[in-house]
Formats: sequence, C-alpha cells, structure tokens
Amino acid sequence: MSSVATTPQSSGTSPQGPTGRVLVGIPVVPGVGAGPVVRPADRPRLPEVTGEPSVAEDARAGELERFQAAAEVVAGRLEGRAARASGAAAEVLEATAGLARDRGLLAAVGKRVKAGAPADQAVVGAAEQFSAMFTELGGVMAERVTDLADLRDRLVAELTGQEEPGVPTPADPSVLLADDLAPADTAGLQPELVLAIATTRGGPTSHTAIIARQLGIPCVVAVGGLDDVATGQFVLVDGTSGEVGVEPDRDHARARVEESERERAAVAAWTGPGATADGHAVDVLANVQDGAGAAKAAATGAQGVGLFRTELCFLDADTEPSVEEQARIYGEVLSAFAERAEGAGEGSKVVLRTLDAGSDKPLKFATAPDEENPALGVRGLRISWAQPGILTRQLDAVALAAEQTGTSPWVMAPMVATAAEAREFAAQVRQRGLKAGVMIEIPAAALHAERILREVDFLSIGTNDLAQYTLAADRLSADLAHLNDPWQPALLQLVALTAAAGAVAGKPVGVCGEAAADPLLGAVLVGMGITSLSCAASAISSVGARLASVELAACQEAARAAVAADDAAAARAAAREVLLGS
Ligand code: PEP
Ligand code: MG
Repeated sequence: MSSVATTPQSSGTSPQGPTGRVLVGIPVVPGVGAGPVVRPADRPRLPEVTGEPSVAEDARAGELERFQAAAEVVAGRLEGRAARASGAAAEVLEATAGLARDRGLLAAVGKRVKAGAPADQAVVGAAEQFSAMFTELGGVMAERVTDLADLRDRLVAELTGQEEPGVPTPADPSVLLADDLAPADTAGLQPELVLAIATTRGGPTSHTAIIARQLGIPCVVAVGGLDDVATGQFVLVDGTSGEVGVEPDRDHARARVEESERERAAVAAWTGPGATADGHAVDVLANVQDGAGAAKAAATGAQGVGLFRTELCFLDADTEPSVEEQARIYGEVLSAFAERAEGAGEGSKVVLRTLDAGSDKPLKFATAPDEENPALGVRGLRISWAQPGILTRQLDAVALAAEQTGTSPWVMAPMVATAAEAREFAAQVRQRGLKAGVMIEIPAAALHAERILREVDFLSIGTNDLAQYTLAADRLSADLAHLNDPWQPALLQLVALTAAAGAVAGKPVGVCGEAAADPLLGAVLVGMGITSLSCAASAISSVGARLASVELAACQEAARAAVAADDAAAARAAAREVLLGS
C-alpha cells in the first residue's frame, strides 16, 4: 500500500526532501503513505478511584449486573466487528472481546463492587491491577497492556454514557497518528482511507504492527515527537526507512509514493528463484512452524525452508511427544517442499532446528520453570547436557521423517556457544546420515565462526538473539526495541565476520532472523556474503524483488557502508543511499 492524498500545498519546499522535522521510529510495515493527519477520538474521562465505598449494600448486586451488561455490550460489538474482519484483525478483536468476558476480570471487578465501589471505578481499579501484573511479566504480556487499557476505556464509556472511543473514519485519505492503537482500533481500519500509520509507542510485535502488516498499511512505531504534529498537518510516513516527515516537499512526497508503488508492483510480480539483478544466486527461504505454514510458504516463491522452529509445535505439550508423533509432525513440513520439488524438478532445502526450548519459549517437558535469568540459562542445545535423550529422540524422529518422506533435511542446533558444542552436535546428526549445522546467535559463536565451520556443514545466523546478546537488550522489551534494531552496526559486524568465515570455508551461511525479512537489509546481508535469506512467508516476495533489483557490487558497497555507520539509523540511510540512491 502506498498513496498520497491530494490536499492543499503547504509552504514547505525543498528539493532534497522533507523540509520540516523528520521524526524517526522503527519501521514495521514497508511502503510509503502521505497525507493529512487524523488522530483517534479522545479517550473517555476515567473516574478517580477513591477506594471509599459509595454504593449502598443493597445496590451492589445490581451494580455488578450493570457491569456484566456493559461487558456483554462491549464484547458483542467487538465480536460483530470481528465477524466483518479476517485473519489477524479478526483474531485480535475476538481476543479483546474474550478479555471483556474474562472470569479473572469479572472476579476483580466483582470484589471491588462488593466492597462498595461503583462499577466504573471498579473497572479502572481492576484494569490497573492487571496492567501492573502484565508489565511485571514483561515481553509479549507487557504489550497486552494496550489492549487492556482499550477495554477499560470501552467499558467505562459504556457504563458512563460517554462516546465509544476509537479511530474516526476519515472523510479523505489520511495518515493516522496516535500514541498507540488498540487492536480494536487498528482492526477496523480501511486501507483506502488510512494511507499510513505512525505511533509513539508499540514495538515490532505489537498489535498495531501485526494488523497494519495484514492490511498492508505502511507503518512506523516508537516514533519520538509525534505529539507535536497537529491534526491536518501533511506528513509522509516511510515504513521502510522508519522516517516520518512533517510538512515535506510535496513533489518529493509524490516521488517517494510513486517509487513505493513501483516497488509494490515488482513484489507482486516476483516468483523466484532468488538472485541479484546480475544473476548472483541467493536462496530465498521461509521460516515456518508447522505443515500448514510450510504449504503456504511453498505457494510463494520460497525455495525451501530456512528455519523450521520445531519447539513451536510443542508449546502446549505436557509431556515429550513420542518419536513417531514427532516424525509425523516433521514429515508434514518436509513433504510440503518435497512435493513442490518434484514439480519444480529440483531439490528443495528444509532446515530443521532442534528444540529451542527455554526463555520466551518454555516447554513443560524440557525446561526448568524457575531459572532466574532464562535468556542466559539452560535453553536451546544446552538442555541436552542434562537431558541428552530429548535431543537424541528428536534426531531419531527427524531421521524417521526423512526416511518416510524421502527427503534429506538439514539439521541445526540453536544457542551454540563453542566449537566443541558444534562438534558434538554434528557427530550425532551425521550418525543419522543428515547434514549438520548450527545457529549463530551468541557473539562468542560469531567470533569463532571459522572454528565452528570446521565442525559443521553450514551456519544460520539468528539475528534476533544475536542482537539481544550483542546489545545486552531483552528482545521482547518495547523500551529496548531500538537496541534490537537489526541495523545496529555492531550486530552487522558480527554477521559480516560470520559470512566471511563461510566464504573462506566454502560453506553456506544463511540468515534466518528478522533481519532477513527486511528487503533492504537482505541485500546488505548478501553483500556480506550471506548465501541464503530465510523469513516469514509474507516477506518473501519483498525480499526476493528487492534482491532482483540490485547488483552484487552495490550490495557489497552497501554492506561496507552499513557496517561503518555509527548507529542503526545511519546504517539504514547509508545502505539506502547506495542501493536506492535516496
Ligand atoms: C533468532 O534468534 O534470530 C532466531 C531466528 O531464532 P528465534 O527467533 O526462534 O529465537
Ligand atoms: Mg534465536
């Protein structure tokens, strides 16, 4: 999606681009949109929570019924909108509706009402209690605080007769700026009228990002200074660079939007296989977590799977699945590409990762529940030290699935720190006749990539974890999102070091972290010598199309410029300049 609204010319003119301020945030949905600013309606006035009982005892049961009726109305409205939406939008609307009917919330509100609080005060108090809890839990849960605040506002509005909060439907195509957007706000957006979104808060995994991605609306989150941009001002949001230009030159804005539209057309037309404009081949692969995802990826131009996150198959399992059950699940992914390979008359690579349990992905049957610092704890391959059977049984299952599907998956281990770990893992994989590799997610492993490559057949760089360990920043923390930006030059330097080691060894080195989903960065990674890019199925065509538009020498120059930059924004800008000339 990329569009410019036709609104009156502003006074700002500059041939080189935005004349006013340029605000910078985290780009989450590529594309460019420009137009006048609209903002969500004011949130309802919230009551002060006095803590004093003000509802007579005999009226408290009725007060609770009033809350329940309001919750029903709010949930019903959200469900109605869910029925008209689809995909992630429908899911988040249903989730918020579910929250309105949540028994925990009802109990927390009920407790306050029984103590004499009016229903609206009880809602605010209960929401505060849960927000504190979610914030304390951190990560994904902390991002749900926005959803909870939205629900609180809807309930209070309903209880107090105020207007329902939310995003107005603009009369003309506009750009939506907000502090943050609740799922219910974002899910109802019409891409024809909302040309782009920029928010002050939110991270790459926030609901705003997820739904904007689904709707194809260019989006930048965590933008500083948005509060000072007035409704009606003309802005340009660049969801690729993360820039928000306030009162840009109109010709410049139009040119950027047109360029973005051309890119969109190229993305729609891309069918693979991956290669630069001058024919340097690069495998463009998919990250998947099950057979359905693999089948979907096979329908894009993906040449195979670069990361099959096996642990995600077992997040709900109380006990370790049998070898046969595991083989059945792995076989679904292997066969998705085996079938495609038959049709295409070529082999399709599937890289399966052994269980990366622990930290943000605990598995009941594998991880300790009480580690103090699980991101630095016994996760990934380290679990096999005390419980070797979990790994050997998984490798048996992979070998069985390979036999049953007639395929030869590559197998890699997560969270490897040393060459000795890589050696031991590779021996077990090769015993089963399979290709062995490891992920590079720990700075020590990147620094020793050359030694590790003596032990394995291939490497795959997990830039998500490599960023969090290099920058010492929790990857789930919205507050630290800028440190986990995959354009951080220190991270890029470690990637370049690893790629160079691969070139010397003559062995494949891929990237399967989020960095590979950024088309511009993908080209930079190829310039470093990375041999495959693996990303979510939804990003494959964008990555492939960008690669097809640039020559290898330009990728190499962009890589040098990005690594030499002082910070992530400068790295991104330097690469843009080399590869796109802007
Ligand atoms: C990574 O860390 O970059 C990676 C691909 O693994 P995950 O995101 O599953 O930790
Ligand atoms: Mg990882």
